Amino acid sequence: MKYISTRGEAPSLSFEDVVLTGLASDGGLYLPETLPNFSQEEIASWAGLSYQELAFKIIAPFIDGEIPDADLKQLIAASYSTKTGKGFRHSAIAPLVQTAHNEWVLELFQGPTLAFKDFALQFLGHLLDYVLKKRKQKVVIMGATSGDTGSAAIEGCRDCENVDIFILHPYQRVSDVQRKQMTSVLEKNVHNIALQGNFDDCQNMVKASFADQSFLPEGRQLVAVNSINWARIMAQIVYYFYSALALGGPHRAVSFSVPTGNFGDILAGYIAKKMGLPIEQLVIATNSNDILHRCISDNDHSLQELVHSLSPSMDIMVSSNFERMLFDLHGRDGAKIKSMMEQFKQSGELSLSESALQKARALFSSYKVDDQETIDVIRSVFDETEYLLDPHTAIGVQAARKARRSADTPMICLATAHPAKFPEAVNKAGQQEDPALPHHMSDLFEREERYQVIEKDLAKVQRYIQSQIS
Ligand SMILES: *Cc1c(COP(=O)(O)O)cnc(C)c1O
Repeated sequence: MKYISTRGEAPSLSFEDVVLTGLASDGGLYLPETLPNFSQEEIASWAGLSYQELAFKIIAPFIDGEIPDADLKQLIAASYSTKTGKGFRHSAIAPLVQTAHNEWVLELFQGPTLAFKDFALQFLGHLLDYVLKKRKQKVVIMGATSGDTGSAAIEGCRDCENVDIFILHPYQRVSDVQRKQMTSVLEKNVHNIALQGNFDDCQNMVKASFADQSFLPEGRQLVAVNSINWARIMAQIVYYFYSALALGGPHRAVSFSVPTGNFGDILAGYIAKKMGLPIEQLVIATNSNDILHRCISDNDHSLQELVHSLSPSMDIMVSSNFERMLFDLHGRDGAKIKSMMEQFKQSGELSLSESALQKARALFSSYKVDDQETIDVIRSVFDETEYLLDPHTAIGVQAARKARRSADTPMICLATAHPAKFPEAVNKAGQQEDPALPHHMSDLFEREERYQVIEKDLAKVQRYIQSQIS
């Protein structure tokens, strides 16, 4: 299987090389040149498989023999294990809970950091460790986080022998739960940097470091763990198949509603559909940072100022993975995407061609949910069912209810985080007490922390990294 860039100029790469690469050299994002396609009979034959068995069926064709089957099975087993203390807390890995007639939430928060990013980053951590051992190579991971990505990446890489991971978070600007989840991981290869700046400053430092990696010792390179990394998208395709099979697919179609930020999660749903899974509706659920909703409804993909919402993991101005979607919507014309993206960089605006817009509207519905509506949904779902939604999931549930075309098709709302991660929204929805952390994390606030506070100065950050690399 070959991987190609959305901007058409970078060389195509093998699977393993794609995993170790961030952006393509032409500024694009990598995608498989062709997608595996499964027949309805084949998908039907997977009913009843465990999450791990199903993950192997879905992931193996993307790896196309580069990793022997037996090794891949081990990687998957290690990534989605329920061993005590680490890994997932539910034997189904991605359990479904019914919230209304023909409406379910898919609990993707049963992993070690209580958010869906564990699905991708547990796998990516084990995959990196495997590939790097084989190649006798060491790498440096550098990432910026406003919360969820950092903790999931740290959990995914804490046992990787050949990875030093540096995560920058804005000093005193992430929630206590999120900071503790990152800084209480004390393995030697894990380094938390609390930058005296905001999230954008963190991101700019990471971008500048990727652009010029000469500060790294000889033989080291930076690897990206944000959702531009293809392996993350790939791992997320599995739970679309898993939940559809549980609700009668592929014999009947299902729909999904996805709380969307960088468009990584819902892109995996679109790919599942292209691989043969019958999906009727894919609902893009946004908060007030609604560039994707404006794009689908009004062909308005223009930059607007960032709004700080009660669903911070979806607070984005631009969705980086949307470029992969644009590539497909415009007939996989790399030159076209390159010029569109360059124009967007200059003007802050981008519009789809008429045919691309029609295709996008046939594939996706969209709905925007503001903070007040988010609180209202958390409250009303709790009143009806005593089930507590986190604010991101609540946005997905509300968008599903508003954008739904058919009451006969099962609607699966992706639950992207556990409510205990976001007590502010939950309190505003009338819960007197903060939702309890799951048992394995109940001692989180007593755990020892380690992090380095550093000024907003690129040279100082890079010098710290140099001094810590093993
Ligand atoms: C990252 C995240 C999202 C957004 O996912 P994307 O793949 O960026 O669209 C939604 N909810 C939670 C809780 C997240 O952590």
